[in-house]
Amino acid sequence: MKIGDNSVVYFNYTLTNDAGEVLDSSDGGEPLAYLHGNGGIIPGLENAMSDHQAGDSFDVSIKPEDGYGERHEELVQKVPRSAFGGVDELEPGMSFQAQTPQGPHLIHVLEVGDDEVTVDGNHPLAGETLHFHIDVEKVRDASKEELDHGHVHDHGHAH
Ligand code: ZN
Repeated sequence: MKIGDNSVVYFNYTLTNDAGEVLDSSDGGEPLAYLHGNGGIIPGLENAMSDHQAGDSFDVSIKPEDGYGERHEELVQKVPRSAFGGVDELEPGMSFQAQTPQGPHLIHVLEVGDDEVTVDGNHPLAGETLHFHIDVEKVRDASKEELDHGHVHDHGHAH
């Protein structure tokens, strides 16, 4: 069956950047599963999946606007170290949920100084053109319960 709205899709992937460096991959793990047509994966990848079927392999390059968006340099900010009062070991690469007027937002620590910490509110893949190699492993219809919930029930996801 072809991938369309309300298909549950299982796929393996390798994600590389423009320089050809592997950023992420499902190698050695379980395939990723998502419910097609529900925005569970980035728009560019969801579009590219349409009409493929189990056994297909393909490559797709996704521009930032169809991926994780452009980078906004104003989201890189210095905040007082005291803002992380409850954290003993503050290190670059750590992520925190920040409360903002627009709701919770994930920030990433870039640099830790004695008094100030540089944080980045951009998604780590913002501004990157994403090159995916996709292997579609399995396609099935979603159950009624999955459609009600808007996500896949599998791999130990239970209610
Ligand atoms: Zn559910």
